[in-house]
Amino acid sequence: MARYRGPVCKLCRLERQKLFLKGERCYSPKCAMERRDYPPGEHGQLARFRRRRPSDYYLQLREKQKVRNVYGVLERQFRRYFRMAERMPGLTGENLLILLERRLDNVVYRLGFADSRAQARQLVQHGHFVVNNRRTTIPSYLIREGDIIAVREGSQKRTYFKNRAEMLDAQHPPHWLSLDPGTLSARVVGKPRREDVDIPFEEGLVVGYYSR
Ligand code: SF4
Repeated sequence: MARYRGPVCKLCRLERQKLFLKGERCYSPKCAMERRDYPPGEHGQLARFRRRRPSDYYLQLREKQKVRNVYGVLERQFRRYFRMAERMPGLTGENLLILLERRLDNVVYRLGFADSRAQARQLVQHGHFVVNNRRTTIPSYLIREGDIIAVREGSQKRTYFKNRAEMLDAQHPPHWLSLDPGTLSARVVGKPRREDVDIPFEEGLVVGYYSR
């Protein structure tokens, strides 16, 4: 299961928008966007003064890359999500974001078991979670309404999860997830909606990119 291994703050700087890829650091003055909110590279600072309007293709490409990077999905898998979204009833762009929200690593992050989607992905891969009592190590697993996600019994004794348990009371997971901090588990009580996506995306541009 491949993933992007380069410097993630550069991804935010390239989009000139905070994508919250690093957990706590993103909310601190150490965030690279607080210090250098221009694109990376030798001529990055010049981008501030460019007046030429970017092409439609460029805008579509950047939006697609932004969504992909936020959810930590590589191109091939992202394209597969797009094809799935096209086959679903409703708006393709919204369906795409809803599919991405349903990924197990995203759900673990949204429940507050991890500070970032990347960390959530690692926790899932290391086998710390069970879905409907079955150990699940696939971050792209798509959760469904009625599923129960829990920290594996053996992992609950770990210091990391003991510390997390204390922080979970302050969590406000989205309406479609019902969290029980006492048992380190949650039930999927609904379906994510477009307005539950916490980063502003223009999914129409992504649809435009793949419809060329
Ligand atoms: Fe982006 Fe977070 Fe890095 Fe800031 S700290 S640039 S929000 S990944």
